[in-house]
Amino acid sequence: MIEFKNVSVTYPGAREPALANVSVTFQKGEFVCVLGRSGAGKSTFIRCINGLQPVTEGYVKWEDKVLSEMTHKETLEVRRKTGMIFQHFNLIPRMSVVQNILTGLFGYKKSYENLLGLFKSSDRLQALEAINQVELTVEPTRRVEKLSGGQKQRVAIARALVQNPKVFLGDEPVASLDPGTADRIFHLLKETHVKRNLVSIINVHDVCLAKKFATRIIALKDGKLFFDGAPEEFDDKI
Ligand code: ADP
Ligand code: ADP
Repeated sequence: MIEFKNVSVTYPGAREPALANVSVTFQKGEFVCVLGRSGAGKSTFIRCINGLQPVTEGYVKWEDKVLSEMTHKETLEVRRKTGMIFQHFNLIPRMSVVQNILTGLFGYKKSYENLLGLFKSSDRLQALEAINQVELTVEPTRRVEKLSGGQKQRVAIARALVQNPKVFLGDEPVASLDPGTADRIFHLLKETHVKRNLVSIINVHDVCLAKKFATRIIALKDGKLFFDGAPEEFDDKI
C-alpha cells in the first residue's frame, strides 16, 4: 500500500543525510513501531510518508502513485487519508474539544464556521461519536488547555478519526505522557487500528511499548534502516 524506494533526505546544509537509502513497504493491517535514538531519522521518516517532508532521492508511493508526482487534489486526498498524532498533540488552544476534533473534518483551511462555533448538527454528531470511540469522558465544550496529557492525546486521536483515515502516523505520540497513560493511549491506538483495519506507523522511544503492541518493528540508526522484522526478533541494541 505504501512503498519507500531508495529514499534519502538531506536537509539543506547538512553533511550527512537524515534518511539514507531506505526501502520498505507497508501493507494494510500492519501496526509498525519505528525505533531509534534521538536524531536517528524517525521523525523525518514519518513525515516522508504523507509528503510533509519532500524526499531528496528515491520515491514514496501510495498504491501505484508516486507522491511527488501527484496533483494537488491527490496530495490533499493523501493528507485526508492520513491521521497524524504528535508528541505535543498540536491542538488549537482556546478552542473546545469538539471544535478541535472538527478541524479534522474541515481541514485546516476551511474551518471558519468551526472557529465561529457554527458547525452543523451532523458534524457535531460525528465529533461526539469520535469522542465516544476514544473513551473521553470530558465535556465536549471544555477548552483543550484544561485537559490532562492523556485526554489531549485522545482529542487528537478523535480529530484523526473524523477524517476517516486509512493510515495512522504517530510522531512520538506518547513521549510526553507518563508510562501508565502511554500504555493506555497505545492500547487505544491498537484497538482503533484493528477495528478500522488501518496501516499504523508510529515512532516510539520505548522498546517495551513497541514489543508489546507492534506487529512489526523498524529501527533506524544514522538514517539507515537497521532492523525490520518481528517484535520478538528485535533485541534491544540500538
Ligand atoms: P528523530 O526523530 O529520530 O529524532 P529526526 O528525523 O528528527 O530524528 O532527525 C534526523 C536528523 O536530521 C538529525 O540529525 C536532525 O538534527 C536533522 N534534522 C531534523 N530536522 C531537520 C531540519 N528541519 N533541518 C535540518 N536538520 C534537521
Ligand atoms: P490521563 O491519565 O492523562 O487523564 P488517560 O488517557 O489515561 O489520560 O485518560 C483519559 C480519559 O480516558 C479519562 O478521561 C477517562 O475517561 C478515560 N480512561 C482512562 N483510563 C481508563 C480506563 N482504565 N478505563 C476506562 N476509561 C479510562
